[in-house]
Amino acid sequence: KRNVHRARIFLPHLVASMEEVEQTYIMIKPDGVQRGLVGEIISRFERKGFKLTGLKLFQCPKELAEEHYKDLKSKLFFPKLIDYITSGPVVCMAWEGIGVVASARKLIGATNPLNAEPGTIRGDLAVQTGRNVVHGSDSPDNGKREIGLWFEEGELCAWAAVREPWLIE
Ligand code: ADP
Repeated sequence: KRNVHRARIFLPHLVASMEEVEQTYIMIKPDGVQRGLVGEIISRFERKGFKLTGLKLFQCPKELAEEHYKDLKSKLFFPKLIDYITSGPVVCMAWEGIGVVASARKLIGATNPLNAEPGTIRGDLAVQTGRNVVHGSDSPDNGKREIGLWFEEGELCAWAAVREPWLIE
C-alpha cells in the first residue's frame, strides 16, 4: 500500500489516463503583451491546475499568422487580423491537462469581450473583438495542429508535476 502511494507521488503522470489528457495552444496576443498582462493571463491557467509544456516570446512572421488563421481567410477582417497578430511579440504556450481544450476556452471567454462573462480573461481584461488579448485552440485536433505550427519539437517539455496527485484523484 505504502509503495503504491509512493509511486503515485513520484510518477504522477500515471495518475491520469493518457486518453483524457489533451493539449491546447494558448497565445497571448500583442495587445496582451503590450498591456503588461502576461503574468496575469499565465497565472489563470496555472492556478486552474493545467500544466505548461511550452512557452516562448515570439515575433510572428506574416506567413505563420496566415497559416494559423487560414480558416478565416475569406473574412473581411482577415488582413486586419494578420496586422494585429504580427504587430508585436506574442507569448506562445502549450498547456496540457484533462479537458484542457474546452476548459481553456471557458477561462478565455467569448470572442467579443463585451459578451464575455466577468471572471473570464476577455470579460475582465478586454473590450473589442479586434483586441481580445488571447487565443485558445477550439478542438483537441486544432490544439495539436497549432502546437505543431508554433513550436519546434525541442521547445516542448514533458515533465511530471509533483502537484498532480493533489489535482487529479
Ligand atoms: P476565437 O479567437 O474566440 O476562437 P474566431 O476563431 O472566430 O474566435 O476568430 C479568431 C480571431 O479573429 C478572434 O479572436 C479575433 O481576434 C479576430 N476576429 C474575429 N472576428 C472578428 C471581427 N468581426 N473583427 C475583427 N477581428 C475579428
